[in-house]
Formats: sequence, C-alpha cells, structure tokens
Amino acid sequence: MSSGKINVSVENIFPLIKKFLYSDHEIFLRELISNATDATLKLKHLTSIGEAAVEYGNPKIEVKIDKEGKKLHIIDQGLGMTMEEVEKYINQIAFSGAEEFLEKYKDSAKDSGVIGHFGLGFYSAFMVASKVELITKSFKDEPAAHWTCDGSPEFTLVPHDKTERGTEIILHIAEDSLEFLEESKIKGLLTKYNKFMPIPIKFGTKQEALPKPEDAPEDYKTEYKEVENIINNPNPAWTKQPTDLKDEDYKSFYRELYPMQFDDPLFHIHLNVDYPFNLTGILYFPKLAADLQIQKDKIQLYQNQVFVTDNVDGIVPEFLTMLKGVIDSPDIPLNVSRSYLQADGNVKKISNYITRKVSDKLKSLFNENREDFEAKWNDIKIVLEYGMLSEPKFYEKAGDFVLYPTIDNTYFTLAELKEKLKDTQTDKDGKLVILYASNKETQHSYIESAKEKGYEVLLLDSPIVSHLIQKLEADNENLTFARVDGDVIEKLIQKEENQISKLSEDEKESLKTVLETIVPKETYSVQLEAMDSKSAPFMITQPEFMRRMKEMSQSGGGGMFGMGNLPEM
Ligand code: ADP
Ligand code: MG
Repeated sequence: MSSGKINVSVENIFPLIKKFLYSDHEIFLRELISNATDATLKLKHLTSIGEAAVEYGNPKIEVKIDKEGKKLHIIDQGLGMTMEEVEKYINQIAFSGAEEFLEKYKDSAKDSGVIGHFGLGFYSAFMVASKVELITKSFKDEPAAHWTCDGSPEFTLVPHDKTERGTEIILHIAEDSLEFLEESKIKGLLTKYNKFMPIPIKFGTKQEALPKPEDAPEDYKTEYKEVENIINNPNPAWTKQPTDLKDEDYKSFYRELYPMQFDDPLFHIHLNVDYPFNLTGILYFPKLAADLQIQKDKIQLYQNQVFVTDNVDGIVPEFLTMLKGVIDSPDIPLNVSRSYLQADGNVKKISNYITRKVSDKLKSLFNENREDFEAKWNDIKIVLEYGMLSEPKFYEKAGDFVLYPTIDNTYFTLAELKEKLKDTQTDKDGKLVILYASNKETQHSYIESAKEKGYEVLLLDSPIVSHLIQKLEADNENLTFARVDGDVIEKLIQKEENQISKLSEDEKESLKTVLETIVPKETYSVQLEAMDSKSAPFMITQPEFMRRMKEMSQSGGGGMFGMGNLPEM
C-alpha cells in the first residue's frame, strides 16, 4: 500500500485543468476512450509478435453510467498496468504531460484558432470528475492496482483483487458536471468522437428483432432479444483499399457519415498516401446547386479514427471546403493556431495533394464519361470556378475539364471554344470575342438577337463569373468576353446585310433622341442597328467596362462564401 504526492510544479494544476477550455470539457471522454483503444491495440501488437502470452480474443471497450452512484465507468480489456507502471505512467508521465500541455497552451487555448485539443490526456478526467479511480490489471502475471486521486496532488495506490486483464476508469462526476450522467449526452459524445474508432465500444444494450420462424403462425408477433449496443463502426470505408469498395459502399458510407443527408453524392475521391506524409480519407462532391448556403455537414478531420474537428480551414484548400467526407492524418499538428497551421510544411503538402487528387479525379471523370460530367456541371461549377480563382495549382489543370455551356446546353472546353469561334466571332483586331449571358430571362432579347446573327452565346451565371472572365482574359491575350447586352457586340465583325436598318437616317436620329431622354446617356447607349431583328426593335447597351467595374466592386471583398477575399487580379 502506498500513497504519495504528485510532484507538482504548476501549483494548482487541477483547478486549472477544470477551467481549461470551458466549452471543451467533453473531450475527456475522447481522451479516455483513446487511451483504452491504445491499450487494446498495444496488446494486439504484443500478442502478434509473441511478447504477450495471452489470448487477444475480441476485446471491446465499455462505457457505463451509474446514475445513482454518480459515476461513469470506462472499461477496457487492453494490456493494463502493473503497480510500478501506474506510478510511472499515471503519476509521472501523464501528469507531466498534462502539466506541460497546460503550460504551453493555457494562453493559446483562448484563441479560437486552436483546432484540436489532443495532449491533455488522462488528466482531462478532472474537468468533469471530483475524484478519479483507476483499477488496472496488467497482462503480466502481477497483482492489480487501484489508484485514487481526488483532484488534489495527493493520491493513493493500493493492490486490488481485479482478475480480468485491462483497465477500468471510474469518474466520480462533479456536481457541476452532472450532465455527463445523462445517457443522451454520453451517447451524443460517443457518436461525435468515437463513431469510427477501431475497437468496438459498448454502451448499454438494445433490442434486436429475432428472425421469424419458418412455422410462424398467422398472428406471429416479432420477438426481440437484448443485445449489446455497439456504437461504432471499427472498420470505416476510408481505412479500406479502394479496390475493395464498390460505388454502393461509398454511398452507404456517405449516409453513415451524414445520416440527415438524403441526396446521394455526385462522386467521391479516395485519398490514400503514406509518403511523405500519412493521409487517408474520402471526399465527396455533394449536390451543391440546391443548397449552397447550407453547410452544416462538413468535412471531418480524424487522427487514427478519432474525430478531432470539422473545421478543416487551412488543411483542405479553401475552395474544397464545400465538399464533404473525412480525412484522417496523424501528421497534422493539433493544438496550434491557424496561422501556424498554414505555415507548416506538411500541411501545405497535404493541401496540395488534395488539390491534385481532386483535379485528377475531375479529369478522369471528364475523359471517361463526358456526357455524365456535363450533366453534373451545374452542381460542381461553383467549386471549380472558385478553385480556378483561388488556387493556382488547380487553375493550371482546370483547362482539361472546366466547361463553358452555351445557352442551348452545348458544353465546350475553352480550347474547343477557341477552335469553334476562331473564324466567326472576332473583332476588328482579330481578337476572339466570347459572348455570354448571365441571365437567360432578363437578357432574353439580347440573346435572341445575337443568336439570329449566328453567334454562340454562353450561359455563365455563377456569382463569380466576372472575376473568372477577368482572369481568363488576363491569361489569354487573344480573348475577350462580352456580355450580350454589352456594347462590345457592336465591335464584332458582322455580316453587312444584317445591319441594314429599315429606318431612314432622320427617323433614326429622332428615335434616338427620344430614347436618350429615357436612358442616361452616360451609362447606356442606344443602338438602332438591330432594327431588323425579329426580337428586338432596337438595343440599349451598357459599356462592358462600366458594368464590370460595378460587378467587381459588388462581389469582391467579402468573398462569396464568406471564405475571405478573392485573390487579387
Ligand atoms: P498519452 O495517451 O498521450 O500517452 P495520457 O495522459 O492519455 O497520455 O496517458 C498516459 C499514459 O497512461 C499512457 O501513455 C499509458 O501508458 C497509460 N494509460 C492511460 N490509460 C491507460 C489504459 N486505459 N490502459 C493502459 N494504460 C493506460
Ligand atoms: Mg492519451
């Protein structure tokens, strides 16, 4: 029997732990279940290399609420600890680990940029418990140990009669944390943090229907039996090899991730790399067109199947944060601020890797089934267009698959478009003029008039189009975009006979004078050359340049998804 005092240098570490990250008290459960998982996986390893002469079996982790006793139990069948090991790992290492963690992060933790909170470990139990007991029996042939600590630096360590291998942690829940004795609360936490951890986690029992017997009578009532309630899927899809998964498996994993999502994803990208960093995961392109703003199902970040956060800013390129899915990497530093994260070399590589995988996937989808790709265009265009603007590495590849649809739903790549228009749609300087509409309804008569003249008109209707065409023009010297209702259409080389107006010069003059009293001359100009058109007796156009200036100043700045500023152009 022994008791002692933990060697403290931070005077009152326990009150500090309690105060630490007030809103994040709940992470204690993740930490304790991570420890239980580690202990189980360590035993698995030891038995596999013959260093532990015990049966590994089918171990699980159990979480149990004792409401009356105000206790929460976390029980594992892992490798356990001897008395000496408790002294070493719990009193010394875990303690100094917690101490070091606090020293380092007690200031930055207040900074909302801190993204995960790994590191506090075992002692995070004191965020919710007034007293913690640890009863543990090592796989080695040694007596079990019983460690108790009430939150002061004093502890007791005595032998215990536990005979089954493994560790049981008993949290005596503090009066201000009684919510952690609610079944729904614990269930919610287990689902949030532990849904895909690699060891089965049991939490209570559930009713399972028995199969209907062959000779069941007419009025047979389904019978149930009580079975263990395992809350996690220890083998989630992203940990498997892509070759072992069918399209349906990816879809059902999507539903497992987001039970409230009813739309199937458009396609997925399986990430799997182990050099120069380790990363696995599955990203999904959701149907975006319908719910651009609804973004509560986000990409989730895991480390070794433990949920860390769904704030992946700085890790996933900004334009891909609208995707859904999971990424799992032990190589992403946690407990760091966003600015640190963005400066981290590994993180930069990870972000580039994701960009490359996404562009490769888009390219292969485009090449393998262009028709299908075109059908999905409306749902994916916003992500791709934003990517072209914000991610130079993506822009480089985008020419291979980014599409420009016409008003009549024919899809061109930029290269195809250039080829198609090179003889028919140029201005007097020989520059290619790409006509586009941004709204099918309001620009209807301009569209019709341009079509009558034999021009192709694109439909570019995403909110960032003015930025995109600005960029395309900057990068393609011989190219200019003109909206159908802009003045540039006049500059196109047109077939002369189409231009003959049925009005005399005098008539034109007086009509023009009348019209110009209605539309401000400074911002619009009146064209009577379109008089012959069936759809438009005359045209009022706005100089392309002025309209663009106005649009850019409206859509710039805030960023279209509240995702910060658009790049300088
Ligand atoms: P970390 O998990 O980062 O090592 P913790 O503070 O969470 O830090 O735990 C400290 C140590 O205590 C672990 O490394 C492990 O040796 C020991 N430990 C904690 N929980 C268990 C457990 N359930 N079974 C066996 N050992 C444990
Ligand atoms: Mg730990």
